[in-house]
Amino acid sequence: ALPLSVPITLPNGIIYEQPTGLFINNEFVYPKQHKTFAVLSPSTEEEITQVYEAFKEDVDTAVDAANAAFHSKWSTSDPSTRTRVLYKLADLVEENAETLAYIEALDNGKSLQCSRGDVALTAAYFRSCAGWADKIKGSVIETGDTHFNYTRREPIGVCGQIIPWNFPLLMASWKLGPVLATGCTTVLKTAESTPLSALFLATLIKKAGVPAGVVNVISGFGPTAGAAVASHPKIKKVAFTGSTNIGRVIMKAAADSNLKKVTLELGGKSPNIVFNDADVKSTIQHLVTGIFYNTGEVCCAGSRIYVQSGIYNDIVAEFKRAAETLKIGNPFDEETFMGAQASQQQLDKILRYIDLGKKEGATVITGGERLGSKGYFVKPTIFGDVREDHQIVRDEIFGPVVTITKFETIEEVIALANNSDYGLAAGVHTDDLNKAITVANKINSGTIWVNTYNDFHPMVPFGGYSQSGIGREMGEEALDNYTQVKAVRIGLKQ
Ligand code: ADP
Repeated sequence: ALPLSVPITLPNGIIYEQPTGLFINNEFVYPKQHKTFAVLSPSTEEEITQVYEAFKEDVDTAVDAANAAFHSKWSTSDPSTRTRVLYKLADLVEENAETLAYIEALDNGKSLQCSRGDVALTAAYFRSCAGWADKIKGSVIETGDTHFNYTRREPIGVCGQIIPWNFPLLMASWKLGPVLATGCTTVLKTAESTPLSALFLATLIKKAGVPAGVVNVISGFGPTAGAAVASHPKIKKVAFTGSTNIGRVIMKAAADSNLKKVTLELGGKSPNIVFNDADVKSTIQHLVTGIFYNTGEVCCAGSRIYVQSGIYNDIVAEFKRAAETLKIGNPFDEETFMGAQASQQQLDKILRYIDLGKKEGATVITGGERLGSKGYFVKPTIFGDVREDHQIVRDEIFGPVVTITKFETIEEVIALANNSDYGLAAGVHTDDLNKAITVANKINSGTIWVNTYNDFHPMVPFGGYSQSGIGREMGEEALDNYTQVKAVRIGLKQ
């Protein structure tokens, strides 16, 4: 049988111990059925290791552990305990930064450039949450001398958290940070194609002094382990990041089971708008980051570019050149910007959309094909001559594929930008702050980046309008999703 930990040699020669079991009650354990599944390296298509697979009965065990931990001192003791644990966890992430970055590049296929950024943001977010833990406050409400009213912000309880494969470690941190800050407990299910970094993070969680049962991490598939989490009667809140379709499934399961609270961070088709007065050089950089960062596997990717007519030809020429000079390939090459797509499934989906774009009559300005035949690499792809009703303009592709369209006026581009079922993010590039704010106010999305893109900060909330989601992650807003308000109204003796 597969041991609960296997040595893995990373491409930098370092050997580390990769846990393979389910992390329940601060121990790696075997699932009841002892089934395992393979984890592949997207850049080589070779098996990295097997890991153990959780089913419903294992979710039950993990939830019981989380439930017991929630009813321990964890959620009621002085919050400085949780502050200390989170600071320690941030330090441990930094101490293990290179190992984590290599694991992530190996498992997801993303470049080291990207995975190092993920690790840095993970540590920064845990540190930010450490600062929140002892700043969760209620209020006193004046209603006259006959009563005394106050509110408390209480932790919701046992959470279920389901994360995707595009930022496995970072998405784990966005989920676990607020759990630890507010005194909740959790069962976190990783995506089946990328379970490794969160299992390694679990070892750091234990080292940081998080009590047993507070954080449980399980590997498994959506329809089995994921569904068991979403419909579990003892889970009080489910947080999901992934596709809009599965978001709907999660919300239904939550409603049908016990009406658990739901937060969803879903898909997008985000507009990235360039006005005539934008600085060409920096704008190109933000268009590139917008769609090609993390191989386009970013929910808020700037996948619909709109350029004002006066600057259109310059932007298209420069953007094409930039896309053609991006270094794609071996994720472990220090120079690589774009690694591999995360899975065969994802590669196939992207190539299907590229074919569809061609069939729909769009023009391939650059790219438009797979790179090589081993590893899931796709050339940065820009489509011109698109129409708003083309599927490549409407659907989230989740790859390095972008459309570029010319516009004339502010009113026109606002209408184009808002012509989407999604509302996750948007970019606005201009030298005129008045224009930027006017457009930012009118665009239907949870994040607007002005003269920047894919630019995250732990203090700045992130989340979707419309079918891009419910609730916010990061910032003070993230804590609201993990606490509930209790109002206490006391009648005073007159
Ligand atoms: P993709 O289709 O791009 O893989 P998903 O939204 O399906 O994205 O996956 C995101 C996460 O949702 C993964 O952890 C996956 O296992 C999980 N998931 C998929 N289907 C379900 C489901 N029916 N119930 C609960 N979780 C699911």
